[in-house]
Amino acid sequence: MTISSHPVEIIEQLKSIVGKNNYIDDASKMDSFLNDWSGKFQGKSLLILKPHNSQMISAIVTICNEACIGIVPQGGNTGLVGGSVPSKSGLEVVISLERMNKIIDIDAINYTMTLEAGCILSEVQNAARDVGRMFPLSLGAEGSCQIGGNLSTNAGGAAVLRYGNAKELVLGLEVVLPDGTIMNGLRRLRKDNTGYDLKQLFLGAEGTLGIITKAVLKLFPLTADKATSLVAMSDLDSTLKLLAKLRELSGDNITAFEYMEGACIDTLIEQTDLEDIFSQKYQHYVLVELSSSRQDANLQSLLESVLESAFLDGVAIDAVIAKSETQAAQLWRLRETLGEVLRRLGAYITFDVSIPVTLVPEFITRATKLCNEFCELGRVFAYGHIGDGNIHYFLFEPKDGNTDNFLAQKSEITTKINDIAAKLDGSFSAEHGVGLAKKQELKQYKSHVELKLMREIKKTIDPNNIMNPGKVL
Ligand SMILES: Cc1cc2nc3c(=O)[nH]c(=O)nc-3n(C[C@H](O)[C@H](O)[C@H](O)COP(=O)(O)OP(=O)(O)OC[C@H]3O[C@@H](n4cnc5c(N)ncnc54)[C@H](O)[C@@H]3O)c2cc1C
Repeated sequence: MTISSHPVEIIEQLKSIVGKNNYIDDASKMDSFLNDWSGKFQGKSLLILKPHNSQMISAIVTICNEACIGIVPQGGNTGLVGGSVPSKSGLEVVISLERMNKIIDIDAINYTMTLEAGCILSEVQNAARDVGRMFPLSLGAEGSCQIGGNLSTNAGGAAVLRYGNAKELVLGLEVVLPDGTIMNGLRRLRKDNTGYDLKQLFLGAEGTLGIITKAVLKLFPLTADKATSLVAMSDLDSTLKLLAKLRELSGDNITAFEYMEGACIDTLIEQTDLEDIFSQKYQHYVLVELSSSRQDANLQSLLESVLESAFLDGVAIDAVIAKSETQAAQLWRLRETLGEVLRRLGAYITFDVSIPVTLVPEFITRATKLCNEFCELGRVFAYGHIGDGNIHYFLFEPKDGNTDNFLAQKSEITTKINDIAAKLDGSFSAEHGVGLAKKQELKQYKSHVELKLMREIKKTIDPNNIMNPGKVL
């Protein structure tokens, strides 16, 4: 292919690769590609391209690399740190993976699924279920986010405790590299010790090293027995005692262990049609789920007996165990709607940190004290995947406060919270990645050696800095 150096001709070449109806060059029709789910990040773009195979992506990337045009890979646009949105320069091209949505193969014997990166997560889960298998990644945005986005952000979600992050659910990848070559690593192998594990470079790279075009995912047996409970806990330390006991006594069949402090449940009851579960208010709750592929696992009675002994030990003070799928879904709705309900309450500053599980109570206590001192009349909400040591924190402006003044303090309070996490050996970004929002934190908290290596890797793979420029590093 001869590549033109004239901007107008380059744009025409890019359009001709995807063909009519598969690009948007009219700025007034680009909105949904230029704004992310949170509404906090907006950009501009030269052109939105919707290729439908890896060869098209390769051809587009080759041209952009020659002409040094920045490329923003985009999935469902639900990432919360601005990684999927182009810069305000208007000089970047967005490559949407939405038309690369084919499931290529499901191998029920090998427990694998090979698919294109634009498949929507909930559709991946359904396709696995249709052949009697399970894909365990599950998160609030699953109806919109794409598997390529999940892998590029190393998404977590509710079942990490049992199955690991997105990274741990991948066997192989196909990636279009920044020079347009296609790296075909679509292997379905569980053992492959042949030097550097190159796919790991692209998992969690947020589109800065290449475009994930296909993947081989691990599948698991379907759940045949499940027990779900919302438990009121006497204090934060008790939550960890219950977690440890459940892991020990359930044969590690614990799938989820989600923390919500009392204020979260109170707010859900106030703000939604969700019904109150307990007759009185408590300060700490955990949502527990045990699951097994064995029909005779008897998880309900196991959960009952662990909770009984937790009551006797003073670890737990009240509990509701779901008696049906519908009741279990009602309990899960509390946890799943929480983030969205909180985001509607007003101006907020939010954190997504992880700490070693043992130190979570200390983190929550110190971070809450700090938030209360910092913003005396503001409201603080802590919740999250406590079983993974991952806490989401929301600090809201005081009622009748000055929003601009409150938000102006964002960087100061963020640093203070991240400092607490760092002192406890934690991370400033547990789930959502770095994107645009946490670039400063990356500089501040990653070691000099790690940052240097990251920069060198980026320079080697993408010397022209065309892949999601300005994100992460
Ligand atoms: C309601 C809600 C709940 C959420 N819950 C969780 C949760 O529990 N756990 C969690 O971890 N996250 C959660 N998230 C955020 C999560 O990161 C995203 O939902 C998801 O993983 C991103 O997928 P996406 O397809 O929307 O990616 P996008 O938002 O489109 O992109 C995210 C990043 O990946 C890059 N990218 C996208 N596709 C590709 C590709 N094919 N190749 C290379 N790079 C690519 C983009 O450039 C960008 O940097 C939640 C988000 C929302 C809105």
